[in-house]
Amino acid sequence: MPTLIRILRHTFRFPMQSALSLLMAIVCTCLVLVLPGITMRFIDVIIAQNRPDLILPTAGVGVAAILVRQALFTLRTYLNNALELKLTHLIRVELYDKLQRLPVKWFDTNSSGEIMSRVANDVPTTNRIIIEGVDQAIAAILQFLIVVGYMCYHSWQLTLVTLIPLPFIGILTTWWSRRSEPMWRESSDASSALNAILHDNLAGIRQIKAYTVEPRALESFDKASQKVGEKHMTVMRGQSIVWPTVSFIAESGIIIMVAFGAWYALQGDLKPGVVISFLVAWGFLFDPISRINTLSQTFTRGIVSAERVFKIIDTPDETNLTEGLRPSEMKGHVQFKEVSFSYSDEAPTINQLTLEAQPGETIALVGATGAGKSTVLNLLTRFYEPTSGQILIDGIPLDGVSKEWLRDQLGYVTQESFLFNTTLRENLQLAKQDATDDELWAALESANAAGFVRSSPDGLDTIAGERGSRFSGGEKQRLSIARALLKNPPLLLLDEATSALDNQTERLVQEALENLRSDRTCFVIAHRLSTVQKADRICVLHHGQLIEQGTHNELMALGGSYAKLCEATFANNSRPDA
Ligand code: ADP
Repeated sequence: MPTLIRILRHTFRFPMQSALSLLMAIVCTCLVLVLPGITMRFIDVIIAQNRPDLILPTAGVGVAAILVRQALFTLRTYLNNALELKLTHLIRVELYDKLQRLPVKWFDTNSSGEIMSRVANDVPTTNRIIIEGVDQAIAAILQFLIVVGYMCYHSWQLTLVTLIPLPFIGILTTWWSRRSEPMWRESSDASSALNAILHDNLAGIRQIKAYTVEPRALESFDKASQKVGEKHMTVMRGQSIVWPTVSFIAESGIIIMVAFGAWYALQGDLKPGVVISFLVAWGFLFDPISRINTLSQTFTRGIVSAERVFKIIDTPDETNLTEGLRPSEMKGHVQFKEVSFSYSDEAPTINQLTLEAQPGETIALVGATGAGKSTVLNLLTRFYEPTSGQILIDGIPLDGVSKEWLRDQLGYVTQESFLFNTTLRENLQLAKQDATDDELWAALESANAAGFVRSSPDGLDTIAGERGSRFSGGEKQRLSIARALLKNPPLLLLDEATSALDNQTERLVQEALENLRSDRTCFVIAHRLSTVQKADRICVLHHGQLIEQGTHNELMALGGSYAKLCEATFANNSRPDA
């Protein structure tokens, strides 16, 4: 019920349209009485009293009423569809807006495929409740009451007889509605799981092909798809029994009604026209009842989908997104004070980390894979919050500043340089919305990217392709460096790419990085000898702990972990953690 009320509240945002649609439903419904009324008039007045002069006017009234009813019905269908589209748009945008405000942590446990299924499938299914559910249910109930009223007016005894099947149908549909709810839920979950697999496999299609695991991928997709079919079939199997049973009960009612009607007519208690008009009205009486069976399924499915949508909408927003301090400028003095952090309740990923970066300094983070280097950057962006200890920026505790302000001050160049499937211009303008073409070219020059952009067929209007597939790894890196240059942030977080680049490209990327690093505080996850040699300080992480720090020469002289790491790796590829 609360879910239903919540959905209905959305319709109140379009009061005129909802009211008009309801009004038309009422008028359409009232007009159903024309047919039984006219039938009765033909039999009991025109035939019984031999009045051929009334045939034409009576038939004319009947046709006119049916015409009006159908015209209103068409208008109502149009209005309802327009309302449904507006509502779907409203809830879809609300959901997307919410998704953007959820903490990164939430996305660790919710797969993209499932989220897409909520936006693409659950939102429209939710809205079916309003159009097919509420609107039609109201029309059905109204039609039922009007027809019962009409019947009672002519013969309450025959009305009672007509209604005998009703309680049986009511009990059966209520029982089925309750029973099918978990079935629909399982069916929806299975569809989401299928979407999740599809999304994952499409995103990893290159890996699937490269490892020739197509049969295994197909098998998992096949299994998930089969499960969707099975779950849906469970509901269909139930429906295939319940629905004919409802029809059987309802149609048996006609025989009972006609039998009693005939008996009343023989007794002289009812005119034959009334019995025939009951027969015509019966169609209008049981049409809503049979519709309610379908509607209850729409309701059940809609409620299940709505719950899934509202579950996301009710998830608390990322805290401190806009509220908090917004200092006028950031100098870039960063301190970690005994910071610990864990992704789960298990062993800490970062353990009592204490380090400091003066404005303009470059700190190189090195250590084996899984040592916690990326996590340090994740804490600085506040994608995750420390479990204990404190991070300070220019002496201000990080948890006191607005995340929006903080992220505005950051340049974040990740290993997998992400480009959106739009023009290069739009990709670069993510960093600075109003950047002119001159500014874009200047940034591209500094990032050693101007050459290949210029020789691309459409220059700045070249479409990057899905995840930037139009460009090579080295090119994507330089484009994302250009993006960071454009933003000109006081604090730079850099995850050097591990992918091997040819010497020429490597030199171009290193030059671009050099331009990017100058005059700002920089935390770099270092994979290259040249980077660590130039860093003001190298921090060696091991299982989330800072085990050594100093310059390259100091740490080499120390002959500890860093020296071993260098000896083991620099000889062949100049990368301390390869
Ligand atoms: P590095 O960058 O040094 O390779 P990370 O900071 O990425 O290391 O990871 C440190 C540890 O935290 C690893 O054991 C990794 O599996 C784990 N980890 C990283 N990200 C997550 C996450 N989102 N959820 C749970 N564990 C994670």
